Amino acid sequence: MTDKKHSKASPPIGAMPEGEARDTRGRRIRYDGDPEHLVRGTTDADRADPHPLYVVWEITLRCDLGCKHCGSRAGKARSHEMSTEECLEVVRQLAEMRVREVTLIGGEAYLREDWDVIARAITDAGMVCGMTTGARNLDADRVRRAVDAGLRSISVSIDGLEMTHDAQRGARGSFRAALEAAERVAASPIILAANTQINRLSMPEMPSLAELLVEIGARAWQIQITVPMGRGADRPDLILQPHDLLELFPLLVYIKQEILEPGGVQLFPGNNIGYFGPYEHLLRYGAHLGAHWGGCAAGKWCLGLEADGKIKGCPSLPSADWTGGYADKEPIAKVVAETRELRYLSERTRDDLWGFCRDCYYGDICKGGCTWTTECIVGKPGNNPYCIHRALELEKQGKRERLVKVEAAPGVPFDRGRFEIVEEPMPELAPDEAPTVLGLPLAHITGLGTSATTAWSDEAIARALDER
Ligand code: SF4
Ligand code: SF4
Repeated sequence: MTDKKHSKASPPIGAMPEGEARDTRGRRIRYDGDPEHLVRGTTDADRADPHPLYVVWEITLRCDLGCKHCGSRAGKARSHEMSTEECLEVVRQLAEMRVREVTLIGGEAYLREDWDVIARAITDAGMVCGMTTGARNLDADRVRRAVDAGLRSISVSIDGLEMTHDAQRGARGSFRAALEAAERVAASPIILAANTQINRLSMPEMPSLAELLVEIGARAWQIQITVPMGRGADRPDLILQPHDLLELFPLLVYIKQEILEPGGVQLFPGNNIGYFGPYEHLLRYGAHLGAHWGGCAAGKWCLGLEADGKIKGCPSLPSADWTGGYADKEPIAKVVAETRELRYLSERTRDDLWGFCRDCYYGDICKGGCTWTTECIVGKPGNNPYCIHRALELEKQGKRERLVKVEAAPGVPFDRGRFEIVEEPMPELAPDEAPTVLGLPLAHITGLGTSATTAWSDEAIARALDER
């Protein structure tokens, strides 16, 4: 924190740089590496008067993939989804609330006929519009419509090398389709970004994915740990164990420094990759300017909307517990200002923490990390086992933690099961043991390259995706 000008910088709450050129509507985009210049970065003025800057909006639950880790169990449209007119009214309200950026998601956003009408309204209202997509059918016509609508960025989801990705996405050919779509986007005026879920299958393939993103011209890469929500909750062998973070974090630093930075790809660790300790300044976006993890942004800096109008503080939060109201029935700003579901998270204090987090040195600022992640694992926020500081502290004591599933998810969109955190002794390593990542030799995974199709055997993939 040596630069006084930026000493109060808080972390950006999202993942897209504003770029260095012009957007698809010809407006100048300037990005100089300063998190305060991100659309979603917070300024002194924002901090004096906090309000949602960033909205993730599921405009339909319809999807053309069947991802095995999908938190919303997407596939069919919801029984009621907002009409075009209702969506345009939502856009008007978001602009009035001084929202700066809206990301359209699904399901698959482009399967809604009016997706580009909504996108166009967002950009016409002065907000930045982006889209996150599985891109199985993001054909040339849809990319053209996105350009016409003024989309600034499209983030393509890539969850592993070809076989690994296709197995998780539930559709053979989805990896090739996503790559071709990504190349289409990269060749358009829209900024190409990518996003990846980190789980037991994708983690050893992260170096190869990083190389691939450099090759296809991606500008930004948002990564997050797969959370056991929705279909992900049905597959406990897919998710990482808390002690796997001890291998993940050094691997991410290697990827960032050796592959992404030289290749011009900006890494944006998602909100469940943290917190503090020796990796914060190496991985947090904007850390070189004093930014650090500042606690869950739900309801304060960001909002999530579902296709049937549900308003949540964050799109990922379990709907049953965190819906404050419906956008087609009541003013969004009123729901944000007045409901417990939207206000609680930004008002949370150390007193709301429990377990390991309760006595953590960083608890006052961190407040237990990502609410969504914690709630989906242990059933309530405030005691987050996915934390590198925690894993390192336990390692010093010769201990580690493991998650054991004790309750199944009911099987509805954005649902969760429950896991218990089991503490156990850290196994001894043989002194001459070569470094591994999830049991695979490090030298093997860093040498996989971009033409490999998986780091795993068919049996290992099937085991990780087994429903239990
Ligand atoms: S132990 Fe909990 S409060 Fe402490 S840094 Fe980790 S997640 Fe945050
Ligand atoms: S619940 Fe997690 S992902 Fe959502 S805003 Fe909070 S920290 Fe971010």
